[in-house]
Amino acid sequence: MKATCWMGTGNVQVLEVPDPKILNTHDCIVRVTATAICGSDLHLFDGLVPSMMKGDILGHEFMGEIVEVGPGVKNVKVGDRVIVPFPISCGKCWSCEHELYSVCENSNPNAWAAEKMWGYSPAGLFGYSHLLGGFAGGQAEYVRVPFADVGPLKVPDELSDEQVLFLTDIFPTGYMAAENCNIHPGDTVAVWGCGPVGQFAIKSAYLLGAERVIAIDRYDYRMRMAQEKGGAEVLDYEKVDVIDALKEMTGGRGPDSCIDAVGMEAHGTGIAFAYDAAKQAVRLEMDRAVALRTAIQACRNGGTVSVAGVYGGFVDKMPMGGIMNRGLTIKTGQTHVQHYTRPLLDRIQKGEIDPSYIITHRLPLDQASHGYEIFRDKLEDCMKVVLKPQ
Ligand code: NAD
Ligand code: ZN
Ligand code: ZN
Repeated sequence: MKATCWMGTGNVQVLEVPDPKILNTHDCIVRVTATAICGSDLHLFDGLVPSMMKGDILGHEFMGEIVEVGPGVKNVKVGDRVIVPFPISCGKCWSCEHELYSVCENSNPNAWAAEKMWGYSPAGLFGYSHLLGGFAGGQAEYVRVPFADVGPLKVPDELSDEQVLFLTDIFPTGYMAAENCNIHPGDTVAVWGCGPVGQFAIKSAYLLGAERVIAIDRYDYRMRMAQEKGGAEVLDYEKVDVIDALKEMTGGRGPDSCIDAVGMEAHGTGIAFAYDAAKQAVRLEMDRAVALRTAIQACRNGGTVSVAGVYGGFVDKMPMGGIMNRGLTIKTGQTHVQHYTRPLLDRIQKGEIDPSYIITHRLPLDQASHGYEIFRDKLEDCMKVVLKPQ
């Protein structure tokens, strides 16, 4: 089959690789009909996530048709059209029983490595480094899906692939980011990053009752979408001092909650950004936490900072004094996607949201490499690339 392979920093190639096989009784094989490139894939593309190996198959946002099931699979069958959440979760461990699917205790075969770095291991993820299991991803013609009874969700025929594809990751991710803000009526929520995750965080903040959402980025076309489709007010961090502007817009108090939808590759202006960029380049620091620090500084006293952006390791210059003395709450996590798929599918079916509005590019799988480049470099007003095998 054809698959998108990580071949080194800045180098992905669609190559012929062996077809996946059922390895465990609870596996199924999905023939992929649509798959997308995520901001998280860019961290791999840019070589910032350790333990990637040449030839690793990328992709964790994918859906398709089940073409084979292991003998132990009960909840899905051959022919079902399903979306597949990006965390691989057993459904039986303590974490899964508490619906903390992205920290499943059973699905990362390389848990020992993650434990060394992070204390405990989270779940294995599709196409997301050997530290997180070394599982082949879904930017391919076929993919093996472990624990087929737990993750894949059957989707109704009347909804198109493009309407349901983002249930695999970024819609639940934006939603969980907003839910973590514990929004009350009248609240103002600030969102750093107007990428796909930021767009769904904005929408979700309103769905959950925010009165006002203020979104921050530097790309006009992304801020325009936040404004026109999301209903957010926008700030360009290259043109204004974001902390001052937010203070002014909120009567001097600051937003009630702040969402980081940027993560480890934040850009910035001035000396603090130069410091992070230099340290990250020589591997003295894993993450450039420019947006996160600003979100913490900007949040009102006693407010919540919700971190959806991905971080890999250790962050410098964490404003711990501000967090502690001002009583901030920080909530974060890889998204517990399986917890959100049904209720969010429901919202799509009811017509409350059609997540396909963020798609700007549809490419054949063969052109994955081009897709990665335009998405990373924000060329052609690229917001979201969907790849279609065949
Ligand atoms: P993206 O790269 O398309 O978007 C990031 C946006 O942040 C860009 O528009 C960029 O201009 C903007 N940005 C950069 N620096 C900024 C700053 N200092 N202030 C404000 N905006 C800034 O990526 P995406 O697909 O939207 O993903 C965003 C983040 O969410 C990534 O870190 C990704 O890994 C993460 N993510 C997390 C989960 C999860 O489960 N928690 C799931 C999906 C994605
Ligand atoms: Zn993703
Ligand atoms: Zn589990």
